[in-house]
Amino acid sequence: MTNIYDLKLSELEQFFLENDEKKFRAQQVFDWIYKKKVHTFDEMSNLSKNVIDLLNNNFEIKVLEKVVETRSVDGTMKFLYGLPDGNLIETVLMSHDYGYSICVTSQVGCNMGCRFCASGILKKKRNLSAGEIMSQIIESERAFGKRISYVVVMGIGEPFDNYDNLMTFLENANSSKGLEIGARHITVSTCGIVPKIKEYADEQLQINLAISLHAPNNEIRNQLMPINKAYPIEQVIDAIRYYMTKTNRRITIEYILIDELNDQKEHALELVKLLKGLNVYVNLIPYNEVIEAPFKRSKRENQEIFYDTLKKNGMNATLRKEQGHDINAACGQLRSQNL
Ligand code: SAH
Repeated sequence: MTNIYDLKLSELEQFFLENDEKKFRAQQVFDWIYKKKVHTFDEMSNLSKNVIDLLNNNFEIKVLEKVVETRSVDGTMKFLYGLPDGNLIETVLMSHDYGYSICVTSQVGCNMGCRFCASGILKKKRNLSAGEIMSQIIESERAFGKRISYVVVMGIGEPFDNYDNLMTFLENANSSKGLEIGARHITVSTCGIVPKIKEYADEQLQINLAISLHAPNNEIRNQLMPINKAYPIEQVIDAIRYYMTKTNRRITIEYILIDELNDQKEHALELVKLLKGLNVYVNLIPYNEVIEAPFKRSKRENQEIFYDTLKKNGMNATLRKEQGHDINAACGQLRSQNL
């Protein structure tokens, strides 16, 4: 049966119209599932028995089953969630002085094959539905008892390889009729699927976009990310330009710092040259070592030289403060699992 969280408001309105019910019932149902977060249709006390029966006969309020919850010394929490088909995914909840943010998974496994990342070790088994992405937020809020106000689609998977479901999820997360999380509080991250970046630009959303670049040239990027063979750096830069003309918004560039491979001063200077004139913000992430990968984390001193070089050359940059390292919840450490 269809998960009610998989539907856009317009689709649920259509459903009610087709069933000779008033369109505004959809809005009432959305209130119950996104604002009050009820578990059953029977609790929807402002709906008639007929409408509740209609809902029960056609939909379910599917939620995820929380299998394990792990808490880091820094307060970060990692949830292992079970999907109805037995697959397991991970979601990370982080606490900041400005509120709570959640890192959601978009696919079971990942096909992008980035050599440094644990998430792709299990090839993509399937896409998550819009509702399965959403349920990670709903369930985590329930489990945790706090309002989550920031969302990053940076868990397992490549969101632009699951584009339509991602778009439905984003609409429901951002809409005032849905979870109502501000567009600027939501970030989608992609490894650089160029046609999808352009399609996303055409949507002209206010939602943030981040691109995992990780290298200042094709030679290095080819060693790290197979996607670079299909869409080399020049095409990514071209897509960034396109996005900027369409949206007038700044893009975040993610750059993991790996010992010697991409963390030298010359690499920083090359990156400055590559990104010159673009409205970007560089987020430097010290590499988190993954057992299966041959890379080492950049030395602290080199991280700082890299950062300083960017700053001295006028780039906006931050050296990311990390969370959840001790529970394998940091960037690139999430894995899909199978029961
Ligand atoms: N597929 C999307 C979403 C994943 S986001 C993307 O590639 O952007 C996760 C971020 O963590 C990406 O920037 C990814 O490249 C980065 N990452 C992956 N493995 C990592 C690791 N071991 N250490 C630090 N960052 C890593």
